[in-house]
Amino acid sequence: MKKKPFNGGIILIFVIFLLLLACIYLEMTKSNSRAYTRVQFLADIAAGNVLQVEIDPNEQTPTGRLNIYFKDGNSTILYVADVGEMEDLLDENQIPVLMNNIPQDSWFKSYMLPILLVVIVFVLFMVFLNSQMAAASGGNKAMNFGKNRARLEVGGPKKATFADVAGLKEEKEELAEIVEFLREPGKFIKVGARIPKGVLLEGPPGTGKTLLAKAIAGEADVPFFSISGSDFVEMFVGVGASRVRDLFEDAKKNNPCIVFIDEIDAVARRRGTGMGGGHDEREQTLNQLLVEMDGFKENEGIIVLAATNRVDILDPAILRPGRFDRKISIGVPDIGGREEILKVYAKNKPLAEDVNLEHIAQTTAGFTGADLENLLNESALIAAKSDREYICDEDVKKAFIKMGVGTEKKSRIVSEQEKRITAYHEAGHAILHHVLPDMEPVYTVSIIPTGLGAAGYTMPLPEKDEMFLTKGKMLHKIMVALGGRIAEELIFDDITTGASSDIRSATRVARKMVTRYGMSDNIGTINYDEEGEDVFIGRDLAHTRSHSEMVAGKIDQEVKEIVDNCYQMAKKIIMENEGILHKCADLLLEKERITMAEFEALF
Ligand code: ADP
Ligand code: MG
Ligand code: ZN
Repeated sequence: MKKKPFNGGIILIFVIFLLLLACIYLEMTKSNSRAYTRVQFLADIAAGNVLQVEIDPNEQTPTGRLNIYFKDGNSTILYVADVGEMEDLLDENQIPVLMNNIPQDSWFKSYMLPILLVVIVFVLFMVFLNSQMAAASGGNKAMNFGKNRARLEVGGPKKATFADVAGLKEEKEELAEIVEFLREPGKFIKVGARIPKGVLLEGPPGTGKTLLAKAIAGEADVPFFSISGSDFVEMFVGVGASRVRDLFEDAKKNNPCIVFIDEIDAVARRRGTGMGGGHDEREQTLNQLLVEMDGFKENEGIIVLAATNRVDILDPAILRPGRFDRKISIGVPDIGGREEILKVYAKNKPLAEDVNLEHIAQTTAGFTGADLENLLNESALIAAKSDREYICDEDVKKAFIKMGVGTEKKSRIVSEQEKRITAYHEAGHAILHHVLPDMEPVYTVSIIPTGLGAAGYTMPLPEKDEMFLTKGKMLHKIMVALGGRIAEELIFDDITTGASSDIRSATRVARKMVTRYGMSDNIGTINYDEEGEDVFIGRDLAHTRSHSEMVAGKIDQEVKEIVDNCYQMAKKIIMENEGILHKCADLLLEKERITMAEFEALF
């Protein structure tokens, strides 16, 4: 059915509005007629107020309605039990009477009209639903209620392969087995091997999960049904479930194939915690998904891939054997992986000689594949802006800063006093970075306001790839964060609100040390940090604190002690380096931004 979706909602509202108007009108006329009584009418006749009367007899005679016209130009109506009697009365008083015909209610009006009205309202409602659906699916498929919206991608000109996925060597090896199976299922079935039905790719956003899933399909050269978890979640209950059913039906027709559910956390959240009672739409969809995955046989040639960056909120049922029994974690790339990814994206970008990808890889710990791609793209944009046909190291550095702190807002006007405060604040951070052995050296210090709302920034070299933090390093982090406020206090005897985010991050680190990492003697090695800080609806609504008020008080005290100690230590270091603090602030005021070399020359 190809119909242009139009906005049924507006029509529906219009109809309801009309009905309301009609109701109001009826109500009004009714009360009118009640207000005027037979007694008043008789009195008006006696007083000679009545000019003329029109009689509308009802179908069920002798009842009827009188339309009474007064001499003063007003009119009213009166329902009477016997029009004949009234006619006699009026004749006696010599008031002109107009007798209308008894209305013959047509068959149409009495039977068809109500039915027609109901039908019209129903049709309008259906149109409204349909246009909503069509709007949701972004097309004019007005009747596609439960159809799946998976995009079938079979090869095509831009087929991804494993070669497009840089790094991730072990992960690719693990998945190679699945590719093999999709290519030659017979080989595996003969030896009785059981191939997993579902593979869950898990890892932070931008690490290449979606890319990897596409590459599997490309390598195996099989149909690839890709759908995003949020596509299942619709406003109408049952639509998601029927989409799942439909998706697997299509997949079975096309086997061997891959079904890829991206961002599966949208459907597969823990059940039984929804806000709308036990059986909300998402649960039905998840149940259907589980049923479908149980329903197809092993080695049937369908492999369900799913990706998520929130395994912790997935329903445990989805991870049971026979469903997503293979879990592949994809982490942020290490230094080798970063270099490979950089090489992939540098391929079509002319680089100057001074660009050293190995060095960029060294300084970008924590960057994901998507970040690295973005870094090189930003560099290219900066190069193009300065009308160069190649990217040089300076462009990469600028892009790096832009990604870290947002674009610098040189045009923002900052008063001299504000600049001075900012210069000392940043110098305080920078000195601690330099002095404390566990902290990374300073990359840039600047008092140019940034797009993210900071008055300045101290940017260290990125942290090295480390598996874990030590207690000493965490204390140093707190000290560095407090450095800005300490410098302000020492120099200006007054403090500003500019240090609020520093204070927040210091507190957060200290609290984690106490509640999560067991780094405080008084609290001991007990985890009081329930499931991380991120609150999400569905689980934490029903969340209660597992420890007593007393422990909570002790934790707060312990956190305060850590922060206070760090404050004192950091203050001591800055006071010992007061000369450098002044020199650094002066240099910042002069140049606005200083580099690593300029800063280290101060010591
Ligand atoms: P995810 O699904 O894990 O959030 P994507 O697969 O969508 O991440 O990756 C986003 C982009 O980042 C990709 O389009 C690709 O350009 C880049 N990317 C990420 N990881 C890699 C990698 N290992 N090799 C090449 N490109 C990558
Ligand atoms: Mg993705
Ligand atoms: Zn600061």
